[in-house]
Amino acid sequence: MDKGQLLIGDKWRDAASGATLTTVDPATGQPLATVADAGPDDVDAAVAAARDALHDPRWAGITPAARARLLWRIADLLERDASAFAELETRDQGQPLPIARAVSVAGAAEHFRYYAGWSTKIDGRVPAHSVPDALNYTRRVPVGVCGLITPWNFPLLIAVWKLAPALACGNTVVLKPAEQTPLTALRLARLFAEAGFPPGVVNVVTGGPDTGRALVRHNGVDKLSFTGSTEVGRDIVRAAGGNLARLSLELGGKAASVVAADADLDIAVPANLRSGIQNAGQVCAASSRFYVARPRYDEFTQRLAAAAAAVRLGPGLDERTQMGPLVGEEHLARVDGYVRGGISEGATVLAGGRRADGELATGSFYPPTIVADARDDMRIAREEIFGPVLTVMPFDDLDEVAARVNDSDYGLAASVWTRDLALAHRLADRIDAGCVRVNIVGSMDPAVPWGGMKASGWGREMGAEAIDEYTEVKSVWIGLR
Ligand code: NAD
Repeated sequence: MDKGQLLIGDKWRDAASGATLTTVDPATGQPLATVADAGPDDVDAAVAAARDALHDPRWAGITPAARARLLWRIADLLERDASAFAELETRDQGQPLPIARAVSVAGAAEHFRYYAGWSTKIDGRVPAHSVPDALNYTRRVPVGVCGLITPWNFPLLIAVWKLAPALACGNTVVLKPAEQTPLTALRLARLFAEAGFPPGVVNVVTGGPDTGRALVRHNGVDKLSFTGSTEVGRDIVRAAGGNLARLSLELGGKAASVVAADADLDIAVPANLRSGIQNAGQVCAASSRFYVARPRYDEFTQRLAAAAAAVRLGPGLDERTQMGPLVGEEHLARVDGYVRGGISEGATVLAGGRRADGELATGSFYPPTIVADARDDMRIAREEIFGPVLTVMPFDDLDEVAARVNDSDYGLAASVWTRDLALAHRLADRIDAGCVRVNIVGSMDPAVPWGGMKASGWGREMGAEAIDEYTEVKSVWIGLR
């Protein structure tokens, strides 16, 4: 079994305590690797290494163009090793290999290239002030040491959503990947030295919530970027009251999909199923509550259930697989608990609804599950399940559906299915979400901001907006007398 260590400065080392944790292949239930379980001393050392690197002339003194070349080189190295990264991601996380290749690895390389371009475009401005005989200009400077904490659903890609802009802006980082899926982050960490990044610019500490807590509370951290659950996000807000680190938070979601009476169901049914079950529904923006115009409700629900029942489940490494396992047993029990709860509250399961058996029984496989006869107040329709569970409810008019979509703690993403342009724009305007998609699913691009409203988080990743998250504005006055 492989053994993963911590990257601190230019050294790979075990946790000071010698503690380790084991990651499991969710398709087989078998252990995959052990990794170091970092304690407070290790986090301390990683933050110190990042702090030293921040002022190291090999990093602080290089030009924006040189930083751009380093980021571009990482993208090239990722592509050189693309097959190995994709296979490792699939083994550790469970996602089907085509997703690992096209979304996780290719997406990560594109993010590095996009932000390589930004390195040379982080300008200040010259404000039109009214102070006589004085010049003022502003500069965008690095925030400093960034603590990056990531979840297990897209381990490589989400780490890169943070690493690429943080490094493009000249920061140094301590990355803490999720304990369930740390392997691609560790492999990526090896590439930074090969690309020519000075030691300490990127440090990686593996471990669980306690490792995350040590990083969040550390006084040497200037900025925290967290992706994960809303509950942990709230903990981080409280903890960051100590060091007053700047925060960006990408939290949970409960994405609504509104299917209007004129929607083309030949497009809407497969697209909505895809959006609900991609990566086994372990996607923050997965469509999980569906509001269907009453005249089309039965037709949509039946077609969705039939399409769900036909999905091929299997290990992510099998090229025929359309949906892989959930990340592990604990999560499967949670997903199943939501379905059991929905049934006990009166909902009806039209497809799926219990773990897969037969040859898939040893892995954490849960089939696409379509739930009808639900109400807005049921937990299954309100809370984030983070699994392939799609709850379908009818609606009667636009005002009603807009109110129901917005009656949620979350505000990450939503979609609308209609051929009526005016309706599309009216709903896009009224829905409180960081991203509204019309007649399209899964669209994402490094150039387009991503993030949530309400309990779905603070700030935005991607696009020019991420540059704001990783820079401070400094204003400089020059007397001209
Ligand atoms: P999680 O909140 O349990 O854990 C996320 C990370 O935080 C892990 O690395 C974990 O070790 C660490 N952590 C846990 N407790 C901590 C604490 N008290 N202090 C500091 N760090 C701590 O989330 P998860 O189960 O890994 O991921 C699923 C969640 O992530 C879902 O809610 C999902 O919606 C969300 N997510 C959001 C987005 C987005 O862009 N908004 C993207 C992906 C996932």
